[in-house]
Amino acid sequence: MTTIDKKWQELGYIDEPISDSIDLKTEIRKMCKQKNAVIMAHYYTEGAIQDLADFVGDSLALAQKAATTDADIIVMCGVHFMGETNKILCPNKKVLVPDLNASCSLAQSCPAEEFEKFVKAHPDHTVISYVNTTAAVKALTDVVVTSSNARQIVESFPADTPIIFGPDHNLGGYINRLTGRNMLLWDGACHVHENFSAEKILKLKAQHPQAKVLAHPECEEEVVMLADKVGSTSALLKFSIADEAQEFIVATESGILHEMQKGAPNKTFIPAPPSDSTEACNECNFMKLISMRKLYNCLKYEWPEIEVDEDVAKKAVRPINKMLEISHKLGL
Ligand code: SF4
Repeated sequence: MTTIDKKWQELGYIDEPISDSIDLKTEIRKMCKQKNAVIMAHYYTEGAIQDLADFVGDSLALAQKAATTDADIIVMCGVHFMGETNKILCPNKKVLVPDLNASCSLAQSCPAEEFEKFVKAHPDHTVISYVNTTAAVKALTDVVVTSSNARQIVESFPADTPIIFGPDHNLGGYINRLTGRNMLLWDGACHVHENFSAEKILKLKAQHPQAKVLAHPECEEEVVMLADKVGSTSALLKFSIADEAQEFIVATESGILHEMQKGAPNKTFIPAPPSDSTEACNECNFMKLISMRKLYNCLKYEWPEIEVDEDVAKKAVRPINKMLEISHKLGL
């Protein structure tokens, strides 16, 4: 390994200077063709990355797409757990994430060793984990869910099934309220969604009385209670385009506004304000680490590559496949 390689490894991404004369988008598309690579992007990445990607979606759609792609290389423009999920589903493909520092506060809030102790303390419980977890946590799980299918998958188990739900206590609490279940919740949360302020949304609503409030179930209960529509990013996107309202206050990561505005150019989308605008805001700092320059270098050098321990991957693939099977059966 060269000195430069070591530097990149420490950084977690390739920071090689790129000449201003290079048209990054054209070169990225050219490399995709030469290398048979596909670019997937989450709705929370910056708009230019979404526009360049072959496929844009939420966690469920990205996993479904990864499971069926015939590309040799998958470049996951999103956070680390999304790259891991792709690698677990496609062990023979090269999976790249342009910046290894793109983590997720939800995944971080659930260390595998601690979660294992929690699972072992409740041996009679079925373990349902949100996709926003590390591969090691998925390996301890019976079935993975996303916010697009969590309710339906929970309801696919008999009502008296004891269930552990992790790591998002807001999503778990929302599903408990919807289904009347009493799932045991891991105490994790997303720092972006937990930061929305019900009080500030109400003030905004007073200024825009016709606006409908859209909220992701990772938000706290008091924010969810205010919403006209609660759902996954793709559900909120569909609703915002199809609904007759012309104005929306959007309580999820603000990257989704790009696709909403594209789908309904004449409507107004207002990002919901965070409770503390001086610190965390309604942007996911992890998702925004993925830049065009990092994507270019990542494709050029085919690094950083996601690797998942073989034994962990063997265990983690079962609950992911179970989710995909149930979703397919339910037409989700
Ligand atoms: S918005 Fe929250 S849940 Fe989504 S990737 Fe960022 S930290 Fe994770």
